[in-house]
Amino acid sequence: MSIASEIIRLRQELPEGVLLCAVSKFHPASAIREAYDAGQRIFGESRVQELLEKIPQLPDDIDWHFIGHLQTNKVKQIIGKTALIESVDSEKLLTLIDSESRKAGVVTRVLMQLHVAQEETKFGFLPDELRDYFRLRKFESLTNTHICGVMGMASNTDDVARVRADFAAIASVFREISVEIAPDLRGFDLVSMGMSHDWPIAVEEGATIVRIGSMIFGERR
Ligand SMILES: *Cc1c(COP(=O)(O)O)cnc(C)c1O
Repeated sequence: MSIASEIIRLRQELPEGVLLCAVSKFHPASAIREAYDAGQRIFGESRVQELLEKIPQLPDDIDWHFIGHLQTNKVKQIIGKTALIESVDSEKLLTLIDSESRKAGVVTRVLMQLHVAQEETKFGFLPDELRDYFRLRKFESLTNTHICGVMGMASNTDDVARVRADFAAIASVFREISVEIAPDLRGFDLVSMGMSHDWPIAVEEGATIVRIGSMIFGERR
C-alpha cells in the first residue's frame, strides 16, 4: 500500500479524537511530503540532527513531535521547533527545557515519558516517580513549559495480555494524576501510546495519540 493510502486508512480506523503522529524517522523528506499531501500534519522524529535537517525541507504548518531520548546538550537546538516533546524522561531534562524555553521566549509543550515496560533499556519515569513529581507539585516551578500529558511504550513482546496491561498502567497513572493528585492541572489531557503493531490495543486502553511509523512508511532503512 502507498503512504497516502495507509494514512487515509488509519484516519478512517482511528476513533474520533485520537491523533495520529506519523513517525517518519529514518525516512526521507519525500516520504513525509507524500503523507503531508494526503493531509497528515503531525510527524514524529527521534533524532535532533535528523529533525533539524528535515524542517527546512518541508511545509511550516507541520507539527513536529520529538519522540526519542533527548540528550541535554541538544535541548537548545530544538527549542521553538517542536509542537510537542513527547519524551521527557527526567526532571533534569524538564528543567533544562524550561530554562532554554524561557531564554528563547517560548512555551514548550511536553509529555512525561513513563517507563512501565519490562525492558531495562527503556527511558522514562517510573510510575511512583511520576506520581511523586505531581504530588510534590514540582511542576509549579516551571514558567515556560506546559506539561500536556504522558507518553509510554508497552513491553516488546507477543504477549498481548502483557501489552494490554502495560497500556492500562500508563492510562491509569495518567488518570490518577489528572483526577486525584493534581486535578487543578490545566491542559493535561494527552496519552500517547501505541505503535504500528499494538496501536489498536492502546486505543482500547485510552490512547489519545498513537505513534505509527513502519505501518505507514514501510520498514526503516
Ligand atoms: C520508532 C518509534 C515509534 C514507531 O514505531 P513503529 O513500530 O515503526 O510504528 C513510536 N514511538 C517511538 C518512541 C519510536 O521510537
